[in-house]
Amino acid sequence: MTLPTTHVSFPAGAVTGESTVLAVHPLDGGRYAVVTGATPFHPLDHTWPDQPADLGTLTVDGVGLAVVDCVTGAVGPDGGQVLVGADIPVRRGDEEWSWLVLHVLAADPGDIVGRTAALAVDAARRGALSASHSGCHLLALALNEALAPRWRKDPGRTDAFGHPDFDSLAMASSVMDTEASTDTYRLGKSLRKKGFTAEATEEFPALADALPELTEAVNRRLAGWVAVDAPVRVDVPGPELTARREWHCELPEGAARIFCGGTHLHRLGELAELRTELRLSEDGSELVAVTRPKRA
Ligand SMILES: [Zn+2]
Repeated sequence: MTLPTTHVSFPAGAVTGESTVLAVHPLDGGRYAVVTGATPFHPLDHTWPDQPADLGTLTVDGVGLAVVDCVTGAVGPDGGQVLVGADIPVRRGDEEWSWLVLHVLAADPGDIVGRTAALAVDAARRGALSASHSGCHLLALALNEALAPRWRKDPGRTDAFGHPDFDSLAMASSVMDTEASTDTYRLGKSLRKKGFTAEATEEFPALADALPELTEAVNRRLAGWVAVDAPVRVDVPGPELTARREWHCELPEGAARIFCGGTHLHRLGELAELRTELRLSEDGSELVAVTRPKRA
């Protein structure tokens, strides 16, 4: 079977939509995946699973079906089976493949192929995930700035504000939930080779001793950005799930851009507060930032 890559409206912030059901596929565990031509649902990404799935409802012929999960599916160039998550053997966006948003149902919806589905995302959950995701990107920029003096040499990658991009160079994992974004950074040999200094020098204390001061600097910057109510948008080159989208925030320091497949706030004024907590593992090999948005 060949299915077109799903068109998505979540990058612009949509939480409702209507579309034709193109296929229903049985999944492991007695679950079923519904494929529509277009959807507002954000699926978990199989390559970089940072933002959790949208949940919600799919209504067909007046019957509401609970969407209990939403994942990325893919069909190879020769058609055949819909593969899910870790079973997909290629990276997101491989142009030979079709990329599908799979709305997961707990039971068989019956014969609904060809019918029109009304799609509705749980908007409160989405709003909380968007707040965490916007917070995650702002943390990246604020942390890069606070750590900039610790680079002995140019690591060859800078962020939108010209600071060495600690966030992307050291990133081990980034996970959002409805409460916070948790970003884990690896401070290993390769980061040191690129020029990052965690040890004490004549200019600054060891990273462990500098944490309270760094945390304060990052939080001051985050509070400043929340206070200016900067507009946020996701630039979308095309409607396909796999389009290379970019987060864009108009901050006083300039236009910030970060490639991103998730969902976001429309303005930073939707937040009352954004604070991070920095923790260093005992052996100093891992820095963890837990960034909590408080919504206005
Ligand atoms: Zn992102």
